[in-house]
Amino acid sequence: MNTKVVTVDKEKPDLLLMREAGEILKKGGLVAFPTETVYGLGGDGLNAGSSRKIYAAKGRPSDNPLIIHIADFESLEKIVRCVPEKAKLLAAKFWPGPLTMIFSKSSIVPYETTGGLESVAVRMPSHPVAKAIIREGGGYIAAPSANTSGRPSPTRAEHVQEDLAGKIDMIVDGGAVGIGIESTIVDFTEEVPVILRPGYINQAMIQEVIGPVRMDKGLLITDEKVQPKAPGMKYRHYAPRAQLTIVEGSSSQVVKYINAQCEKALREGKKPGVIASDETVSSYRGAVVKGIGARADEEEIARNLFAVLREFDEEDTDILFSEAFDTPKMGQAIMNRLLKAAGYHMISLDE
Ligand code: AMP
Ligand code: MG
Repeated sequence: MNTKVVTVDKEKPDLLLMREAGEILKKGGLVAFPTETVYGLGGDGLNAGSSRKIYAAKGRPSDNPLIIHIADFESLEKIVRCVPEKAKLLAAKFWPGPLTMIFSKSSIVPYETTGGLESVAVRMPSHPVAKAIIREGGGYIAAPSANTSGRPSPTRAEHVQEDLAGKIDMIVDGGAVGIGIESTIVDFTEEVPVILRPGYINQAMIQEVIGPVRMDKGLLITDEKVQPKAPGMKYRHYAPRAQLTIVEGSSSQVVKYINAQCEKALREGKKPGVIASDETVSSYRGAVVKGIGARADEEEIARNLFAVLREFDEEDTDILFSEAFDTPKMGQAIMNRLLKAAGYHMISLDE
């Protein structure tokens, strides 16, 4: 398949191109487009055939449900059984934006989209390109991250091309995304709402609006044996090709430990790599070192995370180390992605 790549102005996308993308979606084709979180691989969420195509293009297991993206709140009614008051409050505060909510699905949503579940995940993105494509494409666009399953999520159109060129109809290039990690997912099918995936919108921000929400058990215990509830969270994710180890502790301890490990790797004839903050990036010796951003700017760290993981796949490093990034607002989300990339391999140097 020939994949058409078009470039658009992020703020004012060309309407004719948005229509063309919408026509492809309405006919059951697939279009990748930017959202404020990561690039999405869009298909008509109410068309079972489109959803099957999404799973095939990504190589994604078919029990890992998709998120349906809508462009206005009114669209929600048609695809869910009911919307709890607390969900309405969250929507009023955070939609459009990086928040996904899970509800009981209505009968028009095919099981192919929900991975066989009776519930459906819904998000209303704020990115102007995403909004236009959702509207032009019929209003209900299933759009998981536009990467090959298991690889780091795409934060630029080039990442989508690496993974999906030749497998989908169109890629809309709207430049680099703003947030860089996927949406926060809140499950409203339980008594007390549950955060199934941390993101830019954190637990405190949600609790400020609706009171108590729980974190899914699988998120708190950094052990792969505890299964998270969001089916997608159980799969190995974001993984660079080289084994990654996260090292936690005081800055000086971490630098010392990682440098010793890199020396050891070099002696064994291996090529080591390090993911570091701007503050410590010049402290490492003998390894391929990549700065991910300043600790004082956690949004920058989140924005760069997936791109840096991908960059290490271009270097043929054999073994990788990363500092831990337990930052105040997005730390939970950043560490969640990093731990998955490391297959939960973390060393703690604090006594
Ligand atoms: P992605 O679209 O690649 O960001 O992945 C979507 C995530 O949402 C996956 O981890 C899914 O497991 C989760 N998800 C989607 N729908 C549901 C649902 N109905 N119940 C629980 N988790 C869901
Ligand atoms: Mg994904």
